[in-house]
Amino acid sequence: MPEITENVPMEEEAEPETFAFQAEIAQLMSLIINTFYSNKEIFLRELISNSSDALDKIRYESLTDPSKLDSGKEFFIKIITNAEEKTITIQDSGIGMTKAHLINNLGTIAKSGTKAFMEALQAGADISMIGQFGVGFYSAYLVAEKVSVISKHNDDECYRWESAAGGSFTVQPIPTPEDFGRGTQIVLTLKEDMVEYTEEKRIKDIVKKHSQFIGYPIKLQLEKEREKEVSDDEEEEKEEEKEEKEGEEKKDEDTPEIEDVEDDEDGKKKEKKTKKIKEKYIDEEELNKTKPIWTRNADDITSEEYGEFYKSLTNDWEEHLAVKHFSVEGQLEFRALLFVPKRAPFDLFENKKKKNNIKLYVRRVFIMDNCEDLIPEYLNFVKGVVDSEDLPLNISRETLQQSKILKVIRKNIVKKCMELIVELSEDNDNYKKFYEQFSKNLKLGIHEDSQNRSKLASFLRYHSSSSGDELTSLKDYVSRMKENQTQIYYITGETRDQVANSAFVERVKKRGFEVLYMVEPIDEYCVQQLKEFDGKTLVSVTKEGLELPEDEEEKKKREEANAKLENLCKVIKDILDKKIEKVTVSNRLVSSPCCIVTSQYGWTANMERIMKAQALRDTSTMGYMSAKKHLEVNPDHPIIETLRKKVDADKNDKSVKDFVMLLFETALLSSGFSLEDPQTHTGRIYRMIKLGLGIDEEDPTMEEPATEELPPLEGDEEDVSRMEEVD
Ligand code: ADP
Repeated sequence: MPEITENVPMEEEAEPETFAFQAEIAQLMSLIINTFYSNKEIFLRELISNSSDALDKIRYESLTDPSKLDSGKEFFIKIITNAEEKTITIQDSGIGMTKAHLINNLGTIAKSGTKAFMEALQAGADISMIGQFGVGFYSAYLVAEKVSVISKHNDDECYRWESAAGGSFTVQPIPTPEDFGRGTQIVLTLKEDMVEYTEEKRIKDIVKKHSQFIGYPIKLQLEKEREKEVSDDEEEEKEEEKEEKEGEEKKDEDTPEIEDVEDDEDGKKKEKKTKKIKEKYIDEEELNKTKPIWTRNADDITSEEYGEFYKSLTNDWEEHLAVKHFSVEGQLEFRALLFVPKRAPFDLFENKKKKNNIKLYVRRVFIMDNCEDLIPEYLNFVKGVVDSEDLPLNISRETLQQSKILKVIRKNIVKKCMELIVELSEDNDNYKKFYEQFSKNLKLGIHEDSQNRSKLASFLRYHSSSSGDELTSLKDYVSRMKENQTQIYYITGETRDQVANSAFVERVKKRGFEVLYMVEPIDEYCVQQLKEFDGKTLVSVTKEGLELPEDEEEKKKREEANAKLENLCKVIKDILDKKIEKVTVSNRLVSSPCCIVTSQYGWTANMERIMKAQALRDTSTMGYMSAKKHLEVNPDHPIIETLRKKVDADKNDKSVKDFVMLLFETALLSSGFSLEDPQTHTGRIYRMIKLGLGIDEEDPTMEEPATEELPPLEGDEEDVSRMEEVD
């Protein structure tokens, strides 16, 4: 990149320097120019929105340093059209751009949104979404064949950036234009077929539609003609001469009126005439006289007005999903307007900057965007404005952090957000849309915001073993609980199908209890914090200690089974040794012979999967956090029953070890764990297949190439030890 700080002396007209657009930006520009798209008017909204941001910036700077306004105290946005030259100009008295800003912001540094927007377009997004991706400036090329940006920043001379697309732009110092203290002027030379954007009515309609809630006056500057009365004698003579020449046609318009009669020098009577002539003048009309919407009475605001305001606030192309407009009075006074969008933005959880979308105003003056202390991170999808009566105007980000006023405001905002979600949840269809987009935020909230945890829990929705295709709330779950049921059962896992068919759910379901299916990674984190709901503990059906309510008969049956299988459990524990903590008789299985459950406080199989998938995880935690496994056997299963008989008949039966290993590995898989050494397991399975097919183990032609990897046969002492290294 060429040297960009050097200032060229102003006396001589400096040569323009040429720069190449960064590749992605060039690509974006040609997409904008070449894509067939009819709703081109949005360019004006984007440029006005940039002007408004630039005004916000200088206003904010001037709060702590009033001298910044020496270059101009008035805040305005002006639109100037010129039909003859086919131009439309958008001018603002905002912060302006230095030469370096012009080069970097308008062409050489791409933002993450540049690529994201192109991808979105390819996936069928609409060009009008451009503002959300932070590349709104380039929408100028929807209508312009050439764009000139003249900008004057307090810290630099005046420069002109110019480009007719085609991969490059120029930057050149120019003398500061008259009446141009500070700010930016964007001149669009319109394409042949875009001259409609010089028409007064068209501009007025567009501004009304897209930009009426901009917080600075938008003035349309028009060259107009008006009639003027002249009584000047000279004028009169001139007009008379002209009239004679032009003949009859003009007479209707300029018919002289006899005003009064007076004596002239000679004492003769002479008629003094006044005439109407046409003159050109510059008219300025303010197009957005509405006062800030949040200061108005909520009852007088239509939902369309809220929608328009929301769109101009957020650059969203769709209206909001829900809105909350309120004021707080008393010790502290503020007004706020909060919106829930229909969709999550493309970078909701991507941005490490922890941004949020609440604009802070103090007594109608914009103070800052993204005020971190106004709203917790998990509510970063809520957009809106807060206007405080109490904060000082010249408050900085640093002092805000300490501000007690702000803490109270924040608490109120969170409370109102909760109300807003409650209202949303009253309409099933809308709530579904909301939940699809923002359930992650709610779950993050449960993890982070202990004060609102139970409130947030009431917003959760899950599929369950009895909810079918619908989602159920915890409240509805509780209302369906069986009389003797005291706990809420859930299972975490990878997909709905996987958990619905898992062995853990079998008995619980069969006994008539409902199981919630939690299949998002964040659910694991969420339930760690959410230990209970409405006084009922949440219990994972994949963890130890699952106690299903049982009547006398069931209890007796279980105790008998325990006694009967005591010996088998001991033998299995001896074989598996350190691979598991203990072996118990299960009360949760129906058709599977056994399963692996994890201890109350360790990870579940699902959590182990999630942690293993995290590329940068600290491997040291894997050791002690990784799931502590218990093997549970199904007393009613024929495999277990036959194995029991085998063991009871002969404690040293050699085939038992192999069967136990196979059962254990299969249970690991079906319980959602992965095998550390799948080869050994595969070997065992092949051997079972051979056995089933009656293939002679000694036949050399039938041996697989991986013989060495094969697990040993019973009785082969050396190999037994190898076999036990499975886990
Ligand atoms: P965004 O405004 O979303 O950041 P744009 O592509 O519209 O993205 O603009 C790029 C950058 O150019 C802005 O971030 C801002 O720094 C600068 N810019 C654009 N228009 C103006 C303006 N009128 N005054 C000052 N700076 C501007």
